[in-house]
Amino acid sequence: MRRASEHRSGPPEPALRVIMRRLREIMAEPGDGQARLDKIVRQIAGLMVAEVCSIYLKRQDGSLELFATEGLNQTAVHSTRMKRGEGLVGRCAELATPVNEPDAQSHPAFSYRPETGEEVYHSLLAVPILRGGIVLGVIVVQNRTPREYSEDDVEVLETTAMVVAENLASGAVAGARGPDLERPQSDSMAGTPLSSGIALGHVVLHEPRVVVTELLAEDPVTELSRLDLSIDRLRENIDDMLRHDSLAQAGAHREVLEAYRMFANDRGWVRRMRDAVREGLSAGAAVERVHNATRARMLRQNDPFWRERLRDLDDLSDRLQRILAGKLDVAADKLALPEDAILLARNMGPAELLDYDHKRVRALIVEDASAQSHVAIVAKALGIASVGQVSGLTERVTQGDAAIVDGETGEVHLRPQPELVAAYADKVRFLARRQSQYRALRDTPAATKDGVRIRLLMNAGLPVDMPHLDDSGADGIGLFRTELQFMIASAFPRLERQTAAYHQILEAAGDKPVVFRALDIGGDKALPYLRHHKEENPALGWRAIRLALDRPGLLRLQVRAFLRASGGRTLNVMLPMVTEVSEIDRARELIGEELARLAATGHVAPVSVSVGAMVEVPSILFDLEALLTRVDFLSVGSNDLLQFLFAADRTNPRVADRFDPLSVPALRALRRIVEAAVRADRPVTLCGEMAARPLEAMALIGLGFRSISMAPASIGPVKSMILSLDAARIAAVMEGLLAAGKGGSIRESLRAFAEGDSVEI
Ligand code: PEP
Ligand code: MG
Repeated sequence: MRRASEHRSGPPEPALRVIMRRLREIMAEPGDGQARLDKIVRQIAGLMVAEVCSIYLKRQDGSLELFATEGLNQTAVHSTRMKRGEGLVGRCAELATPVNEPDAQSHPAFSYRPETGEEVYHSLLAVPILRGGIVLGVIVVQNRTPREYSEDDVEVLETTAMVVAENLASGAVAGARGPDLERPQSDSMAGTPLSSGIALGHVVLHEPRVVVTELLAEDPVTELSRLDLSIDRLRENIDDMLRHDSLAQAGAHREVLEAYRMFANDRGWVRRMRDAVREGLSAGAAVERVHNATRARMLRQNDPFWRERLRDLDDLSDRLQRILAGKLDVAADKLALPEDAILLARNMGPAELLDYDHKRVRALIVEDASAQSHVAIVAKALGIASVGQVSGLTERVTQGDAAIVDGETGEVHLRPQPELVAAYADKVRFLARRQSQYRALRDTPAATKDGVRIRLLMNAGLPVDMPHLDDSGADGIGLFRTELQFMIASAFPRLERQTAAYHQILEAAGDKPVVFRALDIGGDKALPYLRHHKEENPALGWRAIRLALDRPGLLRLQVRAFLRASGGRTLNVMLPMVTEVSEIDRARELIGEELARLAATGHVAPVSVSVGAMVEVPSILFDLEALLTRVDFLSVGSNDLLQFLFAADRTNPRVADRFDPLSVPALRALRRIVEAAVRADRPVTLCGEMAARPLEAMALIGLGFRSISMAPASIGPVKSMILSLDAARIAAVMEGLLAAGKGGSIRESLRAFAEGDSVEI
């Protein structure tokens, strides 16, 4: 590129400053938006010694329309359109990254448009016009001679693109013919349903992107120190998160934080941002430009490692932007939600969700979450419609966009057309009617057509869940996840607080039974205030009863609180992740000691204490008889049991749903548990997500389960299924299917049975 300073006397002025100054002048000159675009392309062509400079802007259908050109035929303006993804220009827009081609015409993606007269130009550089991560168009330069454009050229064009983006939003360029920025096209994505329900509302970004509005800084020295201070704060912030190592607070895993730290201390990254400020950009604009350029470089690497790191870079740049804009602490925003908020996050921990005023959250979308993740479980408990596994959604949305979330199918519709809104409003009315039918079943006992009574219990974890016990008509609480209260506390709850919390739950349950699960922490459930060591495989690591037995102080305190809270009632407590029977012996010993202590300290004792084990680890399947002599009941944690049986991480979207719970090996394992429990005359419940789905619940009844526990919203649908089922018939069908020795999934056969027998699935 010819440096503009070559034509000036005195100290050289950086090329970028010259361009910025010129662009600012153009914006200030009289004339309409089209005239400004025409001037911009003329200027850039001149400054970059390019024969062609063109601007394409995105239309509602995703096509790119030629809006201004210097060098191509003027008659092509507003008539040439590239379809979404077409040609090198379309490719640049789709990938949101520069395309630098010395010999564009021989590139397989090149799309020749005779009306433009571009056949004589060989080299091409295209950069996206981005605003807040969304592509608004593409700016292109072309030259006759084959050449690769330099990094400087890319920077100049990217800076121009930033100015164009900013002025497009304000309407200062393109004017009335401009792309419909205020009304971007509607868009739909298919994800995975996490929690049922349908919601219409407006998007609230969990960690909103900051849109940089001030691109230029008058005083680079002050701006530089603002940048430096913000980078320092960013580093402190990351160190802080790492020190606390809190998944719940940071919403990110330790490795991610470590990657952040690596980036934040990367000298190249910092130097490039400082250089951009020295050239006249504001600190925010510098962060954005370097972000875009680094992103593009990383996208060019065909290495999955770097692609994975892209997200870290995006997050880190966003974080830095928020610091610069004074918006890092969004705690206040969390409470000031609109009435119809649709929360959208790349990733989110359960505690972060609970920070929001959940009465205003109509739906939740978490790009990375799978159905078994804890944020999904919390969303379900709160009755919030949720969808997961929609990667890239945050890039296609702006804060405040209208959206529809379909927690039944997993679809997300952005900026929906009025017809779709009307159709969904109908669907919502239909669901409300169905809910009221379920409500009408509230007091009907859950018994099959042939008179087999099934206990339908509810999963809970917070006081906010308790009203559902009554309105769902559940027979009791089959799983109370005590760790949720620990996860949202800022310090380890003391004895009095724990006692009061359990007492409150028991009071709210009235005569209905409650099964408390002892702390299930570790793995992906970390407590912000408890030190955790980095583990290669946290799900297989130091968690649940393992941690409790190694730190008996924690378990002892919790057991003491359970006992005190249950004075005069029955206490049911179960232990998670039991791997071998000796763990039960040790836990029972501790419980016995606490019972003795309770009497000695003059507290009212529970009328009885039942101790159960969760069956979640495959090893215990092969020692069930011994286990059953030591416990009063069993509860199958199918979420964990299946992840270990299939060796498929329940939190990894790529594998979480890969293996069907309705497959022969999984069902045989479950049958083994029921049969052993029946032989030993001990009650058994299943409390994983399986129980919540009518088809799966039907299969469980076929295996012999007579007690299942699920999120309250599922009680109605599962009860409907039970009322239309013949238990003896499903048992016979299951028997046949499991004996057939075909292996694999039997889902379709079960579905066919349900249909043939008119079972409401
Ligand atoms: C399970 O593993 O199935 C279970 C109920 O426990 P959690 O989902 O809390 O691990
Ligand atoms: Mg579990």
